Amino acid sequence: MADRVQVGLQVEGMTCHGCARHVESALKGVAGIREVTVPTWQAGRATVLADPGVTDDTLTRAIEAAGYRARVRERRAVGEGQRFPSGGEQYDLMVVGGGSAAFAGAIKGAELGAKVAIVEAGTIGGTCVNIGCVPSKTLIKAAELCYRSAYPKFEGLTACPPPSDWQRVIQQKDELVAALRQGKYVDVMKIYPTITLIQGRAKLTGRRTVTVNGRSYTPGKILLATGSLPWAPPIPGLAEAGYLDSTEALSLPELPVSLLVIGAGAIGLELGQLFARFGVRVMIIEGGPHVAGAEEPEIGKALTEYLAGEKIRICTNVKIARVERAGTEYRVHAVIDGKPETCVAEQLLLATGRRPNTADLGQTEAGVQTGSRGEIVANEHLQTANPDIYAAGDCVGDPMYVYVAAYAGGLAAENALTGAGRVYDLSALPHVIFTDPQAASVGLTEAAARAKGKPVETSVLHLKNVPRALASRDTRGLFKLVAEQETGKLLGAHIVADEAGEVIQAATLAVKFGLRVQDLVETFHPYLTMVEGLKLAALTFQKDVSRLSCCAS
Ligand SMILES: Cc1cc2nc3c(=O)[nH]c(=O)nc-3n(C[C@H](O)[C@H](O)[C@H](O)COP(=O)(O)OP(=O)(O)OC[C@H]3O[C@@H](n4cnc5c(N)ncnc54)[C@H](O)[C@@H]3O)c2cc1C
Repeated sequence: MADRVQVGLQVEGMTCHGCARHVESALKGVAGIREVTVPTWQAGRATVLADPGVTDDTLTRAIEAAGYRARVRERRAVGEGQRFPSGGEQYDLMVVGGGSAAFAGAIKGAELGAKVAIVEAGTIGGTCVNIGCVPSKTLIKAAELCYRSAYPKFEGLTACPPPSDWQRVIQQKDELVAALRQGKYVDVMKIYPTITLIQGRAKLTGRRTVTVNGRSYTPGKILLATGSLPWAPPIPGLAEAGYLDSTEALSLPELPVSLLVIGAGAIGLELGQLFARFGVRVMIIEGGPHVAGAEEPEIGKALTEYLAGEKIRICTNVKIARVERAGTEYRVHAVIDGKPETCVAEQLLLATGRRPNTADLGQTEAGVQTGSRGEIVANEHLQTANPDIYAAGDCVGDPMYVYVAAYAGGLAAENALTGAGRVYDLSALPHVIFTDPQAASVGLTEAAARAKGKPVETSVLHLKNVPRALASRDTRGLFKLVAEQETGKLLGAHIVADEAGEVIQAATLAVKFGLRVQDLVETFHPYLTMVEGLKLAALTFQKDVSRLSCCAS
């Protein structure tokens, strides 16, 4: 018999904060109700924690008596120490970290009826909402709107917007971050009465012991979701000179006149273009042979061309000898195109990647192994070398994306609490670089497919062959498809285009479900959409699409 039941209700007729309060007090008036949550931001939802004898009928009738209509969405047993192996200890699951992986894990735990603690040392919500995806993407959009309105024909930016605009944009960004943190993390936690937030830094102090603020807990299972931190390479003088990381760059109080970006991965490219579009003179230097080094070379080449078109100087194969700060400027002494050069800028942004945040976590005491980059070593079920400890999100290493972290958190919590044995599967994982135009990919690159010994065919289609791009008067971009030679099965799709991040989803389904290039050719794609480029790129395996009539026929 469960100690409690958690009942989720769908309520019709609630239109304002006052309605939410009426429903809340109606439910609180029912005998046997322990906790009630009616979030005002999520219209129509209510959750109660009640004694097991409280029936669904009693709850819906109480809401109807208050003038609303209701039905029960779900009812779950919430038993301490009965369904889970904690044997009556305080928490069935303790999640270390309060970001996306942690929240997904905690919610999954609560949905399964577990009593869960989230331990967060910093700001609830973690990287994505506070300092990552949300602030960067809203600033990128602001920069794009500013750029497009000033330069509708993409002629290259030469003038600065007034500096006061930057402060306004930063303020609006901060407001959005605060609203989403509240709506998507703080309020969501309130829906789950069995989740407790403990503010403090957690340390593993034994095989199943976590110490926070001097107090030790022995939860049934532990989920590590401690995220990642910016990583700096050992460049002479860098630590002494100082530099901006992405977090600081996204909150600069004033725009610098010039910015030098070290690293041309997703974050370096996105932030480099963002600042250039706000009128900052930007130079991006990269040690590898092309920008966006993990992508197809065609993608790196295209992005270099488009960013250079916006007066961003991009240098690859750069060897940095030393960094120094002289007065108000940074000086980076490097070898560029075989010649020594000193690059000078008012600000220096380091965008050389992130590493798992696992220092001083106490993993050795707990029998948890970490790899050479500090990543927590976990098996295909996200279980560490200690069977009671699981790990998810950036702390297990690449790929570091929020949707991967959320998926991993839920999967790890379920495996930890139920032994479901779900397998962590990242095949057919799409990813996006939020430059303008965007770059998006799924599946294998040509080189990766060949390295696996697969004979492949490829097609490359430039956007000047895509009607949507012509109609929009923006033909920057390309589609590249990689297919298995023998079967025609689509192995990878790589796109540079306006909103490529939307288009890639169709290719993701094709790769995930093993479709062939011919299946894409035989599928309707609406005329004058960017995704039609996928069909045209598929046709390019057989025909010269520049000679086709309208609608790829
Ligand atoms: C600038 C930038 C832009 C990005 N843009 C995108 C994007 O567009 N799309 C995308 O998918 N991904 C993006 N990412 C990546 C994405 O933000 C991360 O992959 C994701 O947020 C990781 O989630 P997580 O839960 O693993 O870690 P986090 O969200 O970092 O959460 C970890 C939490 O653990 C806490 N913590 C650490 N150690 C302890 C401890 N010992 N005790 C208690 N708490 C602890 C930390 O304070 C932190 O809040 C971006 C990242 C950055 C930096």
